[in-house]
Amino acid sequence: MAESPVLIVGGGLGGLTLSLCLAKIGISSKVFERRSQLSENGAGIQLSPNCLRVYDHLGMVSAITEIAHEPSHIEFREWRQNRILSKLDLSDFREKLGFPYFTVHRGQLIDLLLSRVLKSESIELHLDREVEHFSSDENGVQIQTGEDVIHGSLLVGADGIRSTIRSELFGLDDPTFTGHVAWRALIPIERLPQASKEIGSRVWWGPGKHLVTYPVQCGSVLNCVAVVENKAWAFESWHEPGELGELLKEFSGWNSDVLEIIQSISNNDLYKWGLFSRNTLKNWSKDRVVLLGDACHAPLPFMAQGAAMAIEDAACLSYCLADGLDYADSFSKFESLRKARTQKVLTMSARNGRVFHLSGLAAMLRNVALKFYEPRFNDFLYGYNVFSAVDGPGK
Ligand SMILES: Cc1cc2nc3c(=O)[nH]c(=O)nc-3n(C[C@H](O)[C@H](O)[C@H](O)COP(=O)(O)OP(=O)(O)OC[C@H]3O[C@@H](n4cnc5c(N)ncnc54)[C@H](O)[C@@H]3O)c2cc1C
Repeated sequence: MAESPVLIVGGGLGGLTLSLCLAKIGISSKVFERRSQLSENGAGIQLSPNCLRVYDHLGMVSAITEIAHEPSHIEFREWRQNRILSKLDLSDFREKLGFPYFTVHRGQLIDLLLSRVLKSESIELHLDREVEHFSSDENGVQIQTGEDVIHGSLLVGADGIRSTIRSELFGLDDPTFTGHVAWRALIPIERLPQASKEIGSRVWWGPGKHLVTYPVQCGSVLNCVAVVENKAWAFESWHEPGELGELLKEFSGWNSDVLEIIQSISNNDLYKWGLFSRNTLKNWSKDRVVLLGDACHAPLPFMAQGAAMAIEDAACLSYCLADGLDYADSFSKFESLRKARTQKVLTMSARNGRVFHLSGLAAMLRNVALKFYEPRFNDFLYGYNVFSAVDGPGK
C-alpha cells in the first residue's frame, strides 16, 4: 500500500471502526469529523453478532460487555391488547453464532472507540473539521477543510446519509423524506412504573406506527424509539426537541404499558427527526475515492442493521486493502462483496416497516400467520462472517 495515510471523512461508527481496522493491519489514517465532539446525545443501538465479530477482531468485546445489556429475547406485540405476536429468542446466540446480541448506549460505544483511536499511533483524529471538497489524481487525493489542504493515498467517504463526498463523486441526489418521523428518548428505569420496570426488548406494532424499547447502560436506562408515519413532516436532525403531548396523542388508544412508558419520558429528553432515503448507487468508488456505510446504503432503521452494515463495511474494506491488490482492484472487490448484502438489508428493512404498520384485515392476517411461524435468527444476517467472506471459500 501507498505510504501516505488513508483520509477518512466522518467520525461516526463507520469511520472510527475503519480507522481501527486499518491500524490493525498497519495502514495509517487521518479521520476528519465536522462535529467538535463525538459524544452523542442519548440514544441506544443494538449490536448483533455479525458486527460484534468485527469488534472481537479489534479486541473490544469485553469492553463492550461492560456497558451492554444482553436481552434474552425480543418480543413483538400488538398495539391495542398488548398480545405477544411473536418472540425472537436471542439466548443461544453465543452458543450458535459465537457472539451475543447486545443493546448499548451509542455515546458509550463511541467513547470506547474514541479511547482506542486516541491511543493508536497510526490514527490522527481531527475534530471540528468539515471537509468541503476533494480532488484525486494518479498520485493521491487531497481534501480541503477550511484553509487547509491535506494529502493522502486514498479517500473514504464515511460521512453519513448526507455525504458530501458522495455528492462530489456522483452528483447531487438529495435524500428523500420517507414519510416516517422517529421519536427517541432515554428513561432511567427508576422512573418507570413498577409494572414496566421488567420491560425488556419489545416492539409494539400498530396501524401506521410502532414503538421499540430496549434497556441500555447495563439495564439501568430504557431506550425508546417511536416511528410514526407522517407524510407532511420533513426536517432531519438528531436534536429537534419533541413535544410529549404530541407523542402521547399519536399513541392514544394504545395499551397501558405503551402509554405508561411514554408518560415516563421527560419532555426535556425527547427528540424527533425525519427518516430519509437515497437512491441506490451503481458504483461506490471512483479513482482513489470510495464510500462506506450510510453514505452509500442507508437503510430505514426497522432491522437495526444500518450501523452493523457500516461496521462490516469497515472490516471488509480494510481486508480488501490489505490483500496486496492495487487500490482499484481492492475497491472493486469491496463493492462486489458488499452490494448484494447491503441491498438485501435495505429491502428487508423497508418491508419490515410495511409489515409493522399494517392495519385492519391485513394486520389480522399477519397476526394469524405469525401463529404458524416461529421466528428464528437469520443465518444470512446474524451468522455472517465478514472476514471469511473476504477470504473466500477455501482460503
Ligand atoms: C432511529 C434509528 C435507530 C437506529 N438503530 C440502529 C441499531 O439499533 N443498530 C444499527 O446497526 N443501526 C441503527 N441505526 C442506523 C445507524 O444509526 C446508521 O446506519 C449508522 O450510524 C451509520 O454510520 P455511518 O458511520 O455510516 O454514518 P454516521 O453515523 O451518520 O456518521 C457520519 C459522520 O460523518 C460526519 N460528517 C458528515 N459530513 C461531514 C463532512 N463533510 N466533513 C466531516 N465530517 C462529516 C458526521 O458528523 C457524522 O459524525 C439506527 C438509525 C436510526 C435513525
